[in-house]
Amino acid sequence: MQCFCGMSHDLGRRGFLGALMAAAVGAQAPAPQSAGPADPALIEDLVAANRILYDQGVVDGFGHVSTRHDKDPNRYLMSRSMAPALVTAEDILEYDLESTPIDQGGRAVYLERFIHGEIYKLRPDVRAIVHSHSPYVIPYANVKTQLRPMNHIAGFLGGGVPVFEIRDTAGPASDMLIRNPALGHALAVTLGPRPVALMRGHGSVAAAQSVRHVVFRAVYTEVNARMESEALRLGDPTFLNDEEAAAAMKTNDALVDRPWDLWKRRAMGK
Ligand SMILES: [Zn+2]
Repeated sequence: MQCFCGMSHDLGRRGFLGALMAAAVGAQAPAPQSAGPADPALIEDLVAANRILYDQGVVDGFGHVSTRHDKDPNRYLMSRSMAPALVTAEDILEYDLESTPIDQGGRAVYLERFIHGEIYKLRPDVRAIVHSHSPYVIPYANVKTQLRPMNHIAGFLGGGVPVFEIRDTAGPASDMLIRNPALGHALAVTLGPRPVALMRGHGSVAAAQSVRHVVFRAVYTEVNARMESEALRLGDPTFLNDEEAAAAMKTNDALVDRPWDLWKRRAMGK
């Protein structure tokens, strides 16, 4: 199906009509309502995720992490625009899936928030997203060599890691940022059903079923990239095959609390 963004993909009839309606209604849409207070434990995880991602070298002054609201799948939670390492519970804002803040209150919002809203729209299974510019991953977005699982911890990279080419949507002169819904949508289409996508000349996105899982994936995508670069320097690495990767991912998905507890203690000082 030809989508309003100009790309051909399977958005489904309802999603397609919904996207058309949203595009047509635009500024006339009524102000979105809040889903109400989120679970404090979810907010605590989201704040910790911001700190952990900085402490583990995944984000620096840039990058962001979001989670779907526990009370409404059409809302998500993410910090106002600020360095992740400084985020507190008071900085968390609620957004609808058009990435409009519900109660902005004069606060700045991330330019690239559309990454989150558009992935949540296309992926009902996804409950948390990380966008980062982590340094060992970016080379794999810019060369033909693929990012592939080096060891069992990064089994989620099995089956291929797609690369988003912004020129296909934004043309040859963009500033590389996902600064509107059409670009966020194109990125979400590139991600497809996968947990990780790379963004040429920019960074990556990780998606998962929880904040803890997405932090695990973002951290180990960076670790895997570092290991793969080292292995390629030494010789011709053997990677996990798709069956090994899938089996390892299943095992690891049940174990994410172990590194989470360690990372959280380090990053939060408790
Ligand atoms: Zn970015």
